[in-house]
Amino acid sequence: MVDPAKMCRRHLLGEHNEIHMLIGSISRKKNLSGFLKNHLIEPLSVKTRHDELAEEMIRRGYSHKSPIDSIPDLGYLGESSGTKVDSEKNHRELVNRCEICRLIAENN
Ligand SMILES: [Zn+2]
Ligand SMILES: [Zn+2]
Repeated sequence: MVDPAKMCRRHLLGEHNEIHMLIGSISRKKNLSGFLKNHLIEPLSVKTRHDELAEEMIRRGYSHKSPIDSIPDLGYLGESSGTKVDSEKNHRELVNRCEICRLIAENN
């Protein structure tokens, strides 16, 4: 996954929002097969990833009022709970799509 320090405000806050929705979906045992098949999510890392994003938000002085207390039960996902995302590919897509993310990447 993309280093939160290299994401623009919009993408940092956007992914933080998405991970909360994902944790909600996992808690409600929603069907995530499309996301898993396309390697868009990494179930085992949801809490770690949330905390990384939240830490970067706090570092930048944004407010964060939504701590995650525990990892949701991944049992219903079976083996696919071990699905990984391709971090480098994600970052390449981000810098292709977003000018601000690209500027941050170039200045690092
Ligand atoms: Zn949060
Ligand atoms: Zn961006």
